[in-house]
Amino acid sequence: MDANPTPSLSPRTALLAGVGTLIAMAITLRAMGRIGWCKCGSWIPWSFQVWSPHNSQHLADPYTPSHILHGLIFYAALQLRPVTDRLSMPARVLIALGIEVGWELLENSPIIINRYRSVTASLDYAGDSVLNSVADVSWCMLGFAFASRAPWWASVLLLVVAEVGCAWWIHDNLTLNILMLIHPIDAVRDWQTAIAPH
Ligand SMILES: [Zn+2]
Repeated sequence: MDANPTPSLSPRTALLAGVGTLIAMAITLRAMGRIGWCKCGSWIPWSFQVWSPHNSQHLADPYTPSHILHGLIFYAALQLRPVTDRLSMPARVLIALGIEVGWELLENSPIIINRYRSVTASLDYAGDSVLNSVADVSWCMLGFAFASRAPWWASVLLLVVAEVGCAWWIHDNLTLNILMLIHPIDAVRDWQTAIAPH
């Protein structure tokens, strides 16, 4: 095995490639019909009301913790020995970014939007705003950076606190999001929509 994994990819090149990928994602999302920013027009960077038309439209919202957790999980998965033997840290950062960008594109494709729309009909949901998607990928990379610097137990603690906290706060979290996308459960949906404004 090569003792110096992917020596050709410098941090500088990885940074340029990462920024380029983000810009390409923004252009693609815009071309797919997503709006640039929340229709409300307010430049307040955050919105903390989950059942509102501002959700997934500003830079930070109740789903921000989920995106930070993506970064923690990608870091952990890419720390496995077979990966670290072959790929340098800049390469692993780029892979994590690529997966998250792929998810944002999929999440904002008509098939997934329509799936979400069935439960968010009253909110006139038409996908995330482009800047929200850029922010979501950035939150993910912040989670990756945190996991790479903090002790492992701090990442585990953050994961547990974020999942339990979001379940209590918005009746949703990363685990439930994946579950409901793959295998929707009526009882969970009822519990989630119970906090929606009528
Ligand atoms: Zn708004």
